[in-house]
Amino acid sequence: MGRRTRMRHVKSPPINFYFQSERIDPLLVDFVGLTVAEFEAMRLKHYISLNQKESAEKMGVSQPTFSRILDRAHQKITQALIEGKDIRVHGGNINFKRGFKGYGCLNCNEEWEDELASQERRTDCPKCESEKVYYLVREPL
Ligand SMILES: [Zn+2]
Repeated sequence: MGRRTRMRHVKSPPINFYFQSERIDPLLVDFVGLTVAEFEAMRLKHYISLNQKESAEKMGVSQPTFSRILDRAHQKITQALIEGKDIRVHGGNINFKRGFKGYGCLNCNEEWEDELASQERRTDCPKCESEKVYYLVREPL
């Protein structure tokens, strides 16, 4: 607490997120897809350096769920690094400057925006109809 933060010049974060690896054949596009939740979990834990409890609270999920999401993110990033694949977040069509409010499905990984989404308001997955749906919120960058 009370730690002073210095102003730093940072480049604006991308509106859409797509990390492209160097590839020998430019026509050969191969990528791993990160969900918004996975991207956000890494940002909170490793970029903002919140602890696991704070990160889970920010995302509105339990700690075990947060831990699973983070693990999956690590596995995908590791795969991309080792196999030289691109990294794409949610098909590359999420506006990261604007933030995101909606839900994510633990069963099929579907994520969808919902203006009215909240921790209290529960809904089923529109894709697989699972009830294992978590509230997903991420701050604008
Ligand atoms: Zn689903």
